[in-house]
Amino acid sequence: MSGPSHLPVTGDDASGPDCPICRGGGPREVLAEMEVSWLTAGPDGPVRGYCCLFFRRHAVELHDLSADEGAAFMRDVQRVSRAIQAATGAAKMNYEVHGNTLRHLHMHFFPRYPGDRFEGRPIDPRAVTEPVYAPGELEEFHRRMLRALADDPPHHA
Ligand SMILES: [Zn+2]
Repeated sequence: MSGPSHLPVTGDDASGPDCPICRGGGPREVLAEMEVSWLTAGPDGPVRGYCCLFFRRHAVELHDLSADEGAAFMRDVQRVSRAIQAATGAAKMNYEVHGNTLRHLHMHFFPRYPGDRFEGRPIDPRAVTEPVYAPGELEEFHRRMLRALADDPPHHA
């Protein structure tokens, strides 16, 4: 097992040239601009309906956010979670925040389905090497997501 010494040793303010998200002005192929984050839903997720939410300013840990930022991020998280469920009919949502290799705060959303290949255990993204979308399915998921987000506008505190 690799220990903590294998984690990259950088400061928690590695924005600018050291952060690929900040350097690129955000992630590639943004599906929707949320209140304080960017939503992506790329073709290479380990399960249909996989999404990723990137906080819009550079931060590493959830505890780096101010109370207001944290509340706003949670509003985005809840809205995305509801939209994924509406778009996919998922039976359960799994959420993951790691940031060990990409040190810019982001949350993974894995919708779970009855009988999915990881039933009874966590998603293992490395176990999925084949595409999870048939031709046209990702575009249809994007359309459903945008419709679900439009049907559930942000509720500002
Ligand atoms: Zn960054």
